[in-house]
Amino acid sequence: MTTSDSRPIYDLLLHGGTVYDPANGINGEALDVAVSGGVIAAVEADISRSLARRAADVRDMIVTPGLIDLHAHFFGYFGAIQPDPLCLSTCVTTAVDAGGSGHLTFDRFNETVIAPATTRVFAFLNIAGEGMVGQPEQDLEGMSAELAAQKIAQRPDLIVGIKVAHYAGPGWEALDRGVEAAKDTGTFVMVDQTPIASRPMDKMMLKHMEPGDVVTHCYAVSKPMTDPQDRVRDYFFKARDRGIVFDVGHGAGSFSWRIAQAAIDQNFPPDTISTDLHHSSYLTNQATMPETMSKMLVCGVPLADVVEMSTWRPAQKIGHPELGTLSVAGVADIAVLRHAEGEFGFTDNGSSGNRVRRAGQRLEPEITIKGGQVAWDRNGLTRDDWSHTVPQDGRLP
Ligand SMILES: [Zn+2]
Repeated sequence: MTTSDSRPIYDLLLHGGTVYDPANGINGEALDVAVSGGVIAAVEADISRSLARRAADVRDMIVTPGLIDLHAHFFGYFGAIQPDPLCLSTCVTTAVDAGGSGHLTFDRFNETVIAPATTRVFAFLNIAGEGMVGQPEQDLEGMSAELAAQKIAQRPDLIVGIKVAHYAGPGWEALDRGVEAAKDTGTFVMVDQTPIASRPMDKMMLKHMEPGDVVTHCYAVSKPMTDPQDRVRDYFFKARDRGIVFDVGHGAGSFSWRIAQAAIDQNFPPDTISTDLHHSSYLTNQATMPETMSKMLVCGVPLADVVEMSTWRPAQKIGHPELGTLSVAGVADIAVLRHAEGEFGFTDNGSSGNRVRRAGQRLEPEITIKGGQVAWDRNGLTRDDWSHTVPQDGRLP
């Protein structure tokens, strides 16, 4: 809304940024974004700064919906992290815990992590009843499709699907039970299963998974998308054709520059970008959303697509199309990123050998707004200048 009346009507104005909002067909337009009462109040050109109580100059920066990390770890083992410090500081306003909890441990996860967090946290329920506490992902007796489905039916507000991961046995039981629980609840499975002779990748994607199910760690050496000649294996295209979804899930051992670049060159970009955030992925590769998005940019994925893979697509995937957009009247979850130019290095991991790739661009998290509140502001762009500090009155505290 623009009006000649100069009374502030907005809480915050992000002024002069380049906006990407794929859900609304906005791909790199110079627009201002106004926030009021926790929701997006306006996305328009040239909104007067006098209409806002607070305005941040974000010229030369990218404004997108708050980032959605489809694969992170906040519960269930030592490597899990607390969501807020590394999500909100990296423009992530929504994240999904990938199987840290199972039907036996979800309530504790919710009480201790999801409920207190400022970051909006959803869960993929592990098919293993205990989640990732101990070694339950090897215990078939603890994997019940029925009990997992019951738990999802209890908390559809927080549980968006099933996770099947790390099962090392010879058969398909873990995956088949996960798929069954997902089908019974109208959700989907995120799968991290390294292929072995008795459980090959093609059979997994073409016979055992269902359309809409997600293969995470899609550019991992352990789940090789490419053959020794760097050609994308035909059955990956077939799997995509039948609706299998491919997620980056960067992690500490699941991203190969060589595989990712070859795949993207052969028209196999990811469907969604995610971090697999945990202690090791952060320490090894700073595997945050902006960093993982930067890697996709370096591989040649256009910025508009990178934003869509990190906002609107994961929002739709988890059944929350009210998120991942800057729609007026929608919740004001917003990311402001600096598209920096310079000399940067990005490492991969796993059996690729942590090799570095030099590049001239990097997305850097500048401001995170969650529900209309400034949750992160690296350069104080939304803050008053310190010269406005009121004089102290001399009284002791
Ligand atoms: Zn993971």
